[in-house]
Amino acid sequence: MVSTPGGTMAAWRLTAYGAPVSLQEVPVPVPAEGEVLLEVTAVGLCHSDVHLLDSPEPMAFDVPFTLGHEVAGTVVAAPGDPALVGRAVVVHGVWACGTCDRCRSGRTNYCTGRGRAVGGGIGRDGGLARYAVVPVGSVVDATGLAPEVAAPLTDGGLTSYHAVATAADRLPASGGRVVVIGVGGLGHLAVQVLRATTAAQVLATDTHPPALDLATRSGAHVVGTPDDLRAELAPHGGADAVLDFVGADATIALGVDLLGPGGDLVVVGSGGGSLDFRKGALPQGVRVSAPFWGTAEELAAVVALARAGHLVPEVEVIGFDDVPAAYERLRRGGVLGRLVVDPRHTGPPAGSSVTTRGQGGR
Ligand code: NAD
Ligand code: ZN
Repeated sequence: MVSTPGGTMAAWRLTAYGAPVSLQEVPVPVPAEGEVLLEVTAVGLCHSDVHLLDSPEPMAFDVPFTLGHEVAGTVVAAPGDPALVGRAVVVHGVWACGTCDRCRSGRTNYCTGRGRAVGGGIGRDGGLARYAVVPVGSVVDATGLAPEVAAPLTDGGLTSYHAVATAADRLPASGGRVVVIGVGGLGHLAVQVLRATTAAQVLATDTHPPALDLATRSGAHVVGTPDDLRAELAPHGGADAVLDFVGADATIALGVDLLGPGGDLVVVGSGGGSLDFRKGALPQGVRVSAPFWGTAEELAAVVALARAGHLVPEVEVIGFDDVPAAYERLRRGGVLGRLVVDPRHTGPPAGSSVTTRGQGGR
């Protein structure tokens, strides 16, 4: 049933770690001063949701909460700023305190004052419902973008953008070579961010063959197996940076293997892999980082890239009732690009309403 503000609504929630995603009837939230109420128009499903659901140990975030941290919506109530009503927005997912040293120096994604919850969908109620309340400071204007395109920008796009920015100072003026491992919801946007913001040659690998085609559509110059990439990089002494969107033992080892001296290993994926961080076991001068998400300012830059046509998320739109099956697909592997839920669409599986946005040659 479609609900209206003031009543109740159905929400897909994390109720216990290790338990399946659960559909619960909850009150439509009421925005306080400093918050806005969104009608959710699209929510991307991230592999991090699967990590949350499947966590064998309780994580830091108190349950229950509504999942969905890649949110696009329309403002329907804004107590402190009525002019916002009607605006199409996306939500910056790290609900930072704004006053700690990190926030004051512009690194809001590394806020030390926000408490345990990260934001909506990760410790607080997120977007897998008809309505969501978010801090007014978290909304970024997304006018002109289709909701299913806008939603994946908030994590898939933003985390990729921040990861590329993390490595940017290691790239030579001539461009250099950057490897993307794992061309999924995040990785295909990382390829596009690299093409849009750097002069690097982009090499990509994935164990799922259709993801290699997606890498090519996204603008990668070289796609293939790890051996293909190794052969391509050998004459150049290795890669300048490796962005690992899997983070498993095998991909971290592959990243170290493909890096040249003075290179940058950027581990974004939460695959639980570890690295033998011994001098001598790593290329000389290697830098290793594990960046987290990005800032609201970076999200605005990502939205601008999308408006300019440089970022085109490849999405498959599904209905609200299809969420458990969609998480199962993500868990099994084989999803291409991003699965995006339209919470306004309920009923039988969408099937024919699936839309895939090809990029054309770039
Ligand atoms: P996804 O499932 O959409 O994509 C993962 C891709 O990796 C798939 O294409 C898959 O085929 C490929 N893959 C899996 N194993 C591989 C291997 N051994 N070698 C090469 N490719 C392999 O996932 P996603 O939503 O893009 O998320 C990617 C990872 O990033 C997840 O672990 C997620 O939790 C994490 N994440 C981290 C942050 C952060 O801020 N650091 C933010 C969002 C997501
Ligand atoms: Zn995510």
